[in-house]
Amino acid sequence: MNTAVIPPGSVLGMLGDGQLGKMTAMAAAKLGYRIAVLGPVGRESPTGHVAYWAEAWGSGTMVSDEQLDRFCRLVSVVMLEWENVPVELVQRIEARGVPVRPGPKVLEVAQDRLLEKFCAHSVDIPSTPFWSIKTDSDLPGLVIPPRGAILKTRRNGYDGKGQVRLSPGESIATAWEKLGRVPAILEQMVDFQCEVSVIVARSSDEAVDPVTYGPFENVHEGGVLRTTLYPLVGLRSRFIRTIEDRAISATLRIAEALDVHGLLAVEFFVDQDGRVIFNEMAPRPHNSGHLTIECSDTSQFEQYVRAACNLPFGSVNFHRSGTMENILGKEVNGWGELVRQTGSPHLYGKSDDTDGRKYGHRTVPGRPLP
Ligand code: AMP
Repeated sequence: MNTAVIPPGSVLGMLGDGQLGKMTAMAAAKLGYRIAVLGPVGRESPTGHVAYWAEAWGSGTMVSDEQLDRFCRLVSVVMLEWENVPVELVQRIEARGVPVRPGPKVLEVAQDRLLEKFCAHSVDIPSTPFWSIKTDSDLPGLVIPPRGAILKTRRNGYDGKGQVRLSPGESIATAWEKLGRVPAILEQMVDFQCEVSVIVARSSDEAVDPVTYGPFENVHEGGVLRTTLYPLVGLRSRFIRTIEDRAISATLRIAEALDVHGLLAVEFFVDQDGRVIFNEMAPRPHNSGHLTIECSDTSQFEQYVRAACNLPFGSVNFHRSGTMENILGKEVNGWGELVRQTGSPHLYGKSDDTDGRKYGHRTVPGRPLP
């Protein structure tokens, strides 16, 4: 374990060049660091716009030895803003003597819905009932439960992509065909009270205690996050504190099991009985944590930089409640209205608005919290 502090003035590497990298780069700049980014777009990307150095990798995440050498000569540590970075690329970077935080172990698990669920089970956290599908022989005998099911690809799904919702009686085989017959899981639909997420910042140095944000309450539309609220408002239970503690404890157990050095976000369903059910995880800053910029003493992005550089963690105190609304697809064309409204607008600087992707968000800080 390398616990040496990476001093301000150093260049930090970033794999992936979207908005999460951009906001991390801005937090890094606040602490006196610069970011070098390698991603699918390079300079003309949200992260590239604010980075010190930016290059595009080739299609299919192709990075030549020569390009990787250049990147690794510049940077003291490498961070991630995308969980589908090939594990093999992370290993090539570490083989050049540059640490990647978080490392290959958590990445490998977080890229596969089946491994994620096994990991949650290994630390006594329940998941939704599910069935693994790899070949045609897995299909006979599978029945869609009365509440319905979702067929999800094990890898590369995000924002509701790689998923098909199924009602009782519908054909699982046809849905699997639609997903390209790749390894998948059939998941029972959960009748949830609300969806929550917790973000933990953790060092692999045992002398440093991890810090957590949340649980945040997340409202999705069509599989995409629409709104995040803090504190929770959607729980009807009298035991809200207990449910919150369960989600935080579950997140800490997963982060410890995977020896996360950096950030880990874990999403849960809270069912009608107040059970906290694992949904998925991401080893990077998380959309639900954007309101930490305005509402917490230290943002999730700054905390990630602190973790990666072995600096002490900042306070995770929330001084205000808050609501975060994502700006999706063509909604970004209403930016004029957005900057007039109350709250803090964030526009990511993506150049096209042709699909439902995330183009920005707006945080509305609420009442002061004790
Ligand atoms: P995921 O990518 O797995 O997080 O799915 C995106 C969204 O779809 C979740 O945040 C939920 O709103 C919904 N969803 C996914 N799986 C389930 C499930 N098993 N039961 C109910 N809703 C689900």
